[in-house]
Amino acid sequence: MICVVCPVGCHLRVSADGDVYMVEGNQCGRGKVYAINELTNPLRTVTSTVKINGSPMTRLPVKTKQAFPKGRMLELMSVLGKVELKPPVKRGQAVLKNVLDTGIDVVATKTCLDNRV
Ligand code: SF4
Repeated sequence: MICVVCPVGCHLRVSADGDVYMVEGNQCGRGKVYAINELTNPLRTVTSTVKINGSPMTRLPVKTKQAFPKGRMLELMSVLGKVELKPPVKRGQAVLKNVLDTGIDVVATKTCLDNRV
């Protein structure tokens, strides 16, 4: 796999002996952590939009505040599809707290004030 933690893009080779993972090709420790996480519990920062009423904007961009378990993304998208907000919402404001009991918040990435976009 290719490490995407930084622009160097090291080509990683991972082998496993039971629960012990050996990573080669990484130029730093972050690459080893990335490779093992990708195999055991891949995480992604999720960006999406949610419905907002009372504004010409109609959809408000949001993202998970921390990286979210990749295997639960469909559940997350289902929850986000049911969210309906009303202005004002400020950038960085949590629009969903502890989503799906993960301890992760979903936050607005844009401010929406009343009928101004
Ligand atoms: S292993 Fe380290 S240096 Fe290589 S891409 Fe990953 S973070 Fe960058």
